[in-house]
Amino acid sequence: MKEAAVLLCQHIGAICEPVVKKGDTVAAGQKVGDSQAFVSAPVHSPVAGKVKEVALRSHPVLGRAMAVVIVADPPDERPAAVDPGRFADFDTENCEQAAILDAAREAGLVGMGGAGFPTRVKLDPKGTPKETLIVNACECEPYITCDYRLMLEWTDQVLAGVRLATKAAGCKRVIIGIEDNKPRAIEVMRDACRAGADGIEVMPLQTKYPQGGERQLIRAVLGKSVPTGGIPPMIGVVVINVATAAALADAVVFGRPLTHRVVTVTGGGIDRPGNYYVPLGITAGELIEFCGGLNSQARKVVMGGPMMGLAIADMETPLTKTSGAITVLTKQEIGSAKFKRRQTACIRCGRCLEVCPERLNPTRIAHAVKNNLLDVAQDYYMSACIECGCCSYVCPANIELTGYIKTGKIFVARQKKRMPE
Ligand code: SF4
Ligand code: SF4
Repeated sequence: MKEAAVLLCQHIGAICEPVVKKGDTVAAGQKVGDSQAFVSAPVHSPVAGKVKEVALRSHPVLGRAMAVVIVADPPDERPAAVDPGRFADFDTENCEQAAILDAAREAGLVGMGGAGFPTRVKLDPKGTPKETLIVNACECEPYITCDYRLMLEWTDQVLAGVRLATKAAGCKRVIIGIEDNKPRAIEVMRDACRAGADGIEVMPLQTKYPQGGERQLIRAVLGKSVPTGGIPPMIGVVVINVATAAALADAVVFGRPLTHRVVTVTGGGIDRPGNYYVPLGITAGELIEFCGGLNSQARKVVMGGPMMGLAIADMETPLTKTSGAITVLTKQEIGSAKFKRRQTACIRCGRCLEVCPERLNPTRIAHAVKNNLLDVAQDYYMSACIECGCCSYVCPANIELTGYIKTGKIFVARQKKRMPE
């Protein structure tokens, strides 16, 4: 990588301020942005080099956001290899709860499954007691396999992270939820848990989208529902993703900040799909080039999976901590009928209501957003939407319901000054 653009907003919560300036020399793993707010997470440089500028860059969700741009010196340097055996031998029992939480904060850990909620805050043992830790290993979205490969190849690291998270949150019960279309992962994780003999349960779950949504997962694993507008700790549950667990182990055992992650590069529009361990701040274009570039069938580049991801127009968009996939779709994959058809008026078929896992009324929310009635959209529980994309997928009128809802949520966040203009 020649240049890394480290976005200062890669999480839910307060946006980081740059702590370096143009011309500064930075080391690999050095903090380049931070915030004093409790709900936030610092960002670090994945490479050694010189700060070229602090400037606006494309952001996969926000459109544009500030980033610290670092010219790598030397270019194309890979992170130092670590001894994977250290994770299996690491004694999580002797780790102090406060030390784990501090390591999570300092390493800039956030939920890597997509939400980007700061891990330090999520694991905070204060407030409502957290009885159960659920590890989200469903990876329910089609095409994406990065968490699956983590479970198979970095099993000890994932389990060390799960144990550390359990201790940090003060949970008594731990369940790893894996969809039953991943029998190999279920077997590997079960064997590893048995060897540890510390009561971690592996639970196969029905393969269905969006099983990996936090609220859907809790319902499937425990049969409990999180109140609408509420959060899992209200019912004594904390959920972390497989990749976040692996990153927590890396942070505690080796003191490494979150500067790299495994990303699935997939879709019919790419010639060399696969899972790659990439520096955060690399652009989508550079990563795609590394994977052989776009082929002649490529029509749409999506940051994320085909259901919840966002199409990007700028190939200079940098990857963030929550970028688990880049999906390059062909015309056939988008669906030729959908590709040709235009949006028409709602025919009030009610299909979007039937499929919504949160039992919302997507058409009403989308209509309110379209007419700039954000308070009305809020009254219809817009914030409870998990952005699964099911309503858009089934809509015979081709209405981008999820797109309207996502836009509405961004407008509300901007009104509340939680996001930059
Ligand atoms: S994207 Fe649509 S279907 Fe999914 S939760 Fe939101 S409103 Fe419901
Ligand atoms: S699925 Fe589409 S056409 Fe049917 S009610 Fe919902 S918005 Fe209207």
